[in-house]
Amino acid sequence: MNSLWFALTLPLIAHRPSSMGSSLIVIRHVTVIDGTGTAPMRDITVVLHGSRIERIEPSRSDHTFEHAQVIDGRGKYLVPGFIDMHAHVNLSPERIDSTTHTFVATAPDPGVPRYSLESLLRFGITTIRDPGGPAAQAVAVRDSVARGLLAGPRMLVAGDIIDRSVAPGLVATVHSADDVRAEVRRQAALGVDYIKLYASLTPELVQVGIDEAHALGKKALGHLFVTSWTTAADMGIDGLLHAMPSSPDLLAPDKRADFKKAIRNTRFMFQWFDYVDFHGAEIDSMIASMVRHRVEHDATLVTFEAMAWGDDPRVIKSPDLLFAPPSLVANWQDGFTLAMGWHSADFDSARSVWPRVLAFEKLLYDRGVLVTVGTDANNAWVAPGASFHREMELLVDAGIPPLQVLKLATHNGAEALGLLDTVGTITVGKQADLVLLSADPVRDIRNTRHIEAVIEAGRIAWQPLERGGTR
Ligand SMILES: [Zn+2]
Repeated sequence: MNSLWFALTLPLIAHRPSSMGSSLIVIRHVTVIDGTGTAPMRDITVVLHGSRIERIEPSRSDHTFEHAQVIDGRGKYLVPGFIDMHAHVNLSPERIDSTTHTFVATAPDPGVPRYSLESLLRFGITTIRDPGGPAAQAVAVRDSVARGLLAGPRMLVAGDIIDRSVAPGLVATVHSADDVRAEVRRQAALGVDYIKLYASLTPELVQVGIDEAHALGKKALGHLFVTSWTTAADMGIDGLLHAMPSSPDLLAPDKRADFKKAIRNTRFMFQWFDYVDFHGAEIDSMIASMVRHRVEHDATLVTFEAMAWGDDPRVIKSPDLLFAPPSLVANWQDGFTLAMGWHSADFDSARSVWPRVLAFEKLLYDRGVLVTVGTDANNAWVAPGASFHREMELLVDAGIPPLQVLKLATHNGAEALGLLDTVGTITVGKQADLVLLSADPVRDIRNTRHIEAVIEAGRIAWQPLERGGTR
């Protein structure tokens, strides 16, 4: 860890999570929604001992607990800590040329991770994956959290995104198979958990990236375009991110030329939905490959909503922006957004395909793809933490029942990360990562925002101010 990071972490030492085995928290008469998708269990007593869940049993009135912090759970709901599969806590502001919409340089802001991690925790997210950021910084931040030097969710991280394009501070630019191998090795040596393969990589380069990652014991994620999801799934990719596959190869052959001709700026991701046939052979085999290879997928609908409504005060003046790092909000207000260069007609046409975007995500869910919940936080207008709750709302809008969305947000994330033995459900023996809610999230998914307490590894990590919290 270099001195910059050390200085950054100093004021937060008081947040150090306790792993001492002596603390005892008892939550009585609570409704437990355990994250497996089964019906809520009412009037339950949950005993947390040290960092673990020790007991889960029907509440008994004659039960007394000495030396325990007892929480009255009547009228309250206990869910597993949430898992945001797609939170870029290591992004920094980007300077852009406003006429050509090209990157000029990154303006590093080491305050972004700390601010983002606190916001995530405050909204009940106890595990995240950062699927792309400067590798050395991402690893340092991850390890600072693990050592208790920074407050925040447990992290898994990918390094710099690997692509043929040039974007200083965002992309590790590669031109050949040897370049890909060298970059994967560099990031693996720094200690990343994931390798992130990006849109302009050809199938040949994607294959090299996946194989090299696997050879080094790392998983490979794709945000792809030139290489289709079907090809990448068959090649062994572990995760395919964003509800917008966008590849011409996933369209019927007679539509591909028209789609390519129509492509203009980032709007092409939405335009693809004007051409795709959800019931055609291409999408059918894409989904079959994803299911066969158990490829995980997070939709990041909230980020696409922020693009399609990127001219709407509901998005660009949202109260949730209070929870986004101030330097990034300023950057978005200066015009660095995913809808750079869009005209009002572009916003209109993006909004017109929104029901099809939601229907696509529902189709993946219905066909049995391993769907998780990810936000793409710290992209324009997407505030870390708050955006996770909007993402769950949008998945309910897509037609997935709230109880199942809660499973995607907890159990499925843990499964995809390989952490299901430790977190993701309310189960005896697992780590006590829990969120206590004051309203029923099955009745209305927006009730996940009514947070009474966030418990991380058996310790109350956040409470609202009126309950003695700190923020
Ligand atoms: Zn992303």
